[in-house]
Amino acid sequence: MVKERARILVVGGGYVGMYTALRLQRRLKQELGRGEAEITVVTPDPYMTYQPFLPEAAAGSISPRHVVVPLRRVLSECRIIIGEATAIDHAKRTATLTTLATEEEGTGTEQLSYDELVLAPGSVSRTLPIPGLAEHAIGFKTVEEAIGLRNHVLEQMDIASSTRDPEIRDAALTFVFVGGGYAGVEALGELEDMARYAARYYHNVRPEDMKWILVEASDRILPEVGEDMGRYTVTELRRRNIDVRLHTRLESCADRVAVLSDGSRFPTRTVVWTAGVKPHPILAAGDLPLNARGRLKCTPELTIDGTTHAWAAGDAAAVPDVTAADPDAECAPNAQHAVRQAKVLGDNIVHTLRGEPLETYAHKYAGSVASLGFHKGVAQVYGRKLKGYPAWFMHRVYHLSRVPTFNRKARVLAEWTLSGLFKREIVSLGSLEHPRAEFELAAGGKHPHNPGDDTKGSS
Ligand SMILES: Cc1cc2nc3c(=O)[nH]c(=O)nc-3n(C[C@H](O)[C@H](O)[C@H](O)COP(=O)(O)OP(=O)(O)OC[C@H]3O[C@@H](n4cnc5c(N)ncnc54)[C@H](O)[C@@H]3O)c2cc1C
Repeated sequence: MVKERARILVVGGGYVGMYTALRLQRRLKQELGRGEAEITVVTPDPYMTYQPFLPEAAAGSISPRHVVVPLRRVLSECRIIIGEATAIDHAKRTATLTTLATEEEGTGTEQLSYDELVLAPGSVSRTLPIPGLAEHAIGFKTVEEAIGLRNHVLEQMDIASSTRDPEIRDAALTFVFVGGGYAGVEALGELEDMARYAARYYHNVRPEDMKWILVEASDRILPEVGEDMGRYTVTELRRRNIDVRLHTRLESCADRVAVLSDGSRFPTRTVVWTAGVKPHPILAAGDLPLNARGRLKCTPELTIDGTTHAWAAGDAAAVPDVTAADPDAECAPNAQHAVRQAKVLGDNIVHTLRGEPLETYAHKYAGSVASLGFHKGVAQVYGRKLKGYPAWFMHRVYHLSRVPTFNRKARVLAEWTLSGLFKREIVSLGSLEHPRAEFELAAGGKHPHNPGDDTKGSS
């Protein structure tokens, strides 16, 4: 049915990349079998990360392996290349790639030709030139960051518990989160809850000894759940002794002191930066049209504006929101749009190959659910507002229904069930980040836990 052999290149193996490839794999099953189509996915990691589960992974409620979906297993009919696209020349239908192999061989980059391009590299943290930020802060977008942060928080409690120096203790027990969107609020809510629970196993660290601070530049947090529920979240977090500072910015975190725009200063070893995202920089290294905010200009059919055979969706794409009254409105960068866009995008590529008319992407934002810790949550979905346990329960049911593959759903459900029966895990496996440390010590090298070695607690 497909007119000629179609080489489809998908850049990115996240929500859009994985779901688009999955859709294409299903709908082009026969063409793939006959060698009339080929799907290649280029992505830096062999897995898709289900980002809404990162806060629960940080809290230890879900193990890191179950927050990710193995691409090779799910996309068994696709060719998976572990690497990165570094440039796109769409006029020549060529992508420049660096892969694990090109790095190992030292051969530089390789060129890959395609007929249809899907650009879905997502977004990166939107940072500002704040002194000390690049050196001391950590983001919250990857499973490595979530688990690293969990280990780091528990390690700070260990430091606080064993030091005799009150300044070191104070800094270790001060945790600053910048940005009040769902990534920041959920990460803070879950980690504070985990640390509060863990404190019962420390003879000299009490929950009241810890300072958890949320810094937000605007006048509200969690805009995704609406104004009322955002206000409720502020009240709920403050009730838990979390210091929520609205209309406040981080001005510096040099020398491990967080300086805020309201004049306050907090010596701290933990600054978590979740102040929004910006489109991936790879988009600028190509010949495709970008809007003022660096997102790819797209049509409601998910083609890249003014091009043929180039498609985009998700955080990287400025897709017109045809359901909004404002003709300039764009779909927000969230998973809700990314998953639905991927389905339409996959279908539209199939339509193109078959000479059929394209579908328009239209989805009205349904609202959001957020977890604020164990049995705590907030939600606004289709105008229905929920808080506390019902919202938390809804958050779990919703995400369980959404996490890809039956295998992952079963594993996550099993973990939740077990964590309901047994006590919470509070162990820090920070030493996993230095697997050679013990052997280096045995072989006469330097141990990263030695005083004076600065490799520890660098986040
Ligand atoms: C902590 C957290 C919680 C969230 N919770 C929610 C939620 O509750 N609800 C919701 O709707 N949304 C949520 N989101 C947002 C949601 O996860 C994103 O909107 C969604 O992942 C966007 O999908 P995407 O495919 O555009 O990008 P991603 O899923 O980020 O995928 C991009 C992929 O491209 C890869 N890539 C990057 N550069 C290259 C390159 N040069 N070459 C090849 N591949 C590349 C990346 O490694 C990644 O695999 C959350 C995000 C975070 C960080």
